[in-house]
Amino acid sequence: NFKSLNDRYGRQNCDQLLHDLADRLTDFLPDFMAGGRVSSDTFAFLIRHQEDHDWTTMIPRVSKGLMSAHISIKYGVVEYVDRTLASSLTCDRAIMALEMIKGVFNVDVAWYDEKLRKKQLMEHAIVETMQQALEEHQFVVYYQPKHDLHTDTTGAAEALVRWIHPELGFVSPGAFIPLFERNGFITQLDLYICEEVCKEIKRCEELGLPVVPISFNASRMDFDALTFTSDVANLADKYGVDRSLLHVEITETAYSESPERVITALEELRANGFLIELDDFGSGYSSLSSLNVLPLDVMKLDMSIIRQAAELNDYRIVHSAIQMAQFLGLTTVAEGVETKDEAQNLKELGCDLIQGYYYSRPLRQSEFESHLTE
Ligand code: C2E
Ligand code: CA
Ligand code: CA
Repeated sequence: NFKSLNDRYGRQNCDQLLHDLADRLTDFLPDFMAGGRVSSDTFAFLIRHQEDHDWTTMIPRVSKGLMSAHISIKYGVVEYVDRTLASSLTCDRAIMALEMIKGVFNVDVAWYDEKLRKKQLMEHAIVETMQQALEEHQFVVYYQPKHDLHTDTTGAAEALVRWIHPELGFVSPGAFIPLFERNGFITQLDLYICEEVCKEIKRCEELGLPVVPISFNASRMDFDALTFTSDVANLADKYGVDRSLLHVEITETAYSESPERVITALEELRANGFLIELDDFGSGYSSLSSLNVLPLDVMKLDMSIIRQAAELNDYRIVHSAIQMAQFLGLTTVAEGVETKDEAQNLKELGCDLIQGYYYSRPLRQSEFESHLTE
């Protein structure tokens, strides 16, 4: 939390803190050989390996009484065995270990190990092949139906990406979306999915299948791309898709990080006829203030609050969230509905649509199309 310490105690005091910290570290680290500051509040030290060294005894001594605020110091450790490896790479590995425990309460030491190395290799493999994967259509769209509780038919669907990797096989979005969000590739992918969705809506029309609105997920990064909203509009036009059938799912993290830009983009999308769905409402990141300012059409209740309501058999929070959405003129979708009981309760509370394994898992295109006619 060095930034907030700077704000609270002033730069000068914090500079002094860094000096004191460096002194302490050189005093307390066992068999210290070399060291220095890598960046603002990150230090690196080379110490001789000691089989029986107990880190836990040293840690509290380093930070004790340094400043009145609670300072937590985290240690990333890597064994420098491969002497051919550049020291900068060794440092990177220690920092990688460190990043694993950033923000994790009560864990102060992390070792760079085989698991981390595999993760790093996997990430490299993903980054090296992502562009080609896009060109070769390795990213495949699955569609998860949203069941309309008023008509008891499929009322809408969400597009969810899957990566069918030639060597790694089926890769779930959890393994690559966060990485693509970090390296910026996500926007290309999201627009690709948007295009696939446009094609699918058109296809359903042409095949005479029931046509339902389909949503795609927009990552917060997408709003940094200045052309995102016009790209979406161009895609809809390219396939002659009725814009009200194309929904964009966004999360509140997008809004909280750059509120003005996101509001402007959403207003543009809506002015162009697209509909906006607020994803994961009620998860750890949501706040009531975003409901006040975001231009929205649909509220998706996060599966965590549905699950909790089912476990406690207490739907009061879900009930008030639905009422609030209704009051704001929003359609409600409950996510992650897995049981008949949950579906029944949500129906009684006036929820409009439900999405989840109880009605259907995400389906491949062909399965989705047959599901539409069921
Ligand atoms: P999300 O948007 O909240 O999507 C819902 C996730 O819940 C999906 O996981 C879905 O398979 C899963 N799910 C649906 N029903 C149930 C249920 O009844 N029980 C349980 N336990 N899970 C259920 P998936 O497909 O693995 O996607 C994970 C996340 O990856 C998505 O969360 C979304 O944030 C992201 N994602 C997926 N596709 C895209 C995409 O094309 N672009 C972007 N930017 N993000 C995507
Ligand atoms: Ca979503
Ligand atoms: Ca969600």
